[in-house]
Amino acid sequence: MIFTGAGISAESGLQTFRGAEGLWEGHRIEDVATAEAWSRNRALVQEFYNQRRRSVLAAEPNAAHRALVELDSRFDTWIVTQNIDDLHERAGSARVLHLHGEIRKSQSSLDPARVYDIDGSELREGMLCEGGSQLRPHVVWFGEPVPMIGPATALAERAAHFVVIGTSLQVYPAASLLEYVPANSAITLIDPSADRIACPRPVRRIAKTASAGVPEFVKELCSSAGR
Ligand code: NAD
Repeated sequence: MIFTGAGISAESGLQTFRGAEGLWEGHRIEDVATAEAWSRNRALVQEFYNQRRRSVLAAEPNAAHRALVELDSRFDTWIVTQNIDDLHERAGSARVLHLHGEIRKSQSSLDPARVYDIDGSELREGMLCEGGSQLRPHVVWFGEPVPMIGPATALAERAAHFVVIGTSLQVYPAASLLEYVPANSAITLIDPSADRIACPRPVRRIAKTASAGVPEFVKELCSSAGR
């Protein structure tokens, strides 16, 4: 199982979450990524995600996303990502589970099960679901339930090797997935800050950027397994 976070897309030009002073692209989380923010200032929240969507559309997968496609051709892999971008899919990975939603989709603000593709980058006031309610970004905001945590936990429980790439492991319940990895399975962390990331048990730490560390790791894994 491959567990990715914002760091894998950093070298594609998408900023990670915790920039300077804990802001996300200059915004406080509580102003743009909570249900309260949506109730308080819908225009600001829509524009924040419209801008994120424009950036994602302009970005391209990098060497790390591509190396994971190579890995999937040799091993039985699943990618569980906290990212809302679609760079894994655009690189060619087929089995991708998004824990925190997908920026290129919208959902009904009353019924989260109604999900739609967004044509282009803009989600605007007055765009409604079939039931007549305003469309919002299809992302999991802080404080909201994480519907995909169950399927992701089931994958972690049967992972022979759990590879963590580009995440600070600060966002829960996502970070708790590590606790479900079988005791005899390997865990590897690839992140420039790998040595400083807290983990519940001993792990192999590769302190490199994703575009350098992931292709090297995939090559090593394939040659050690003779594939
Ligand atoms: P985070 O910002 O908390 O942590 C990012 C991690 O990436 C850090 O550990 C950092 O050391 C590492 N990193 C920085 N540059 C890297 C590189 N070149 N290669 C590899 N790693 C690198 O991000 P998180 O833990 O993923 O949590 C952020 C939350 O914000 C997620 O829930 C996600 O939904 C959202 N988010 C998504 C995107 C995206 O979709 N691309 C971008 C920003 C935030």
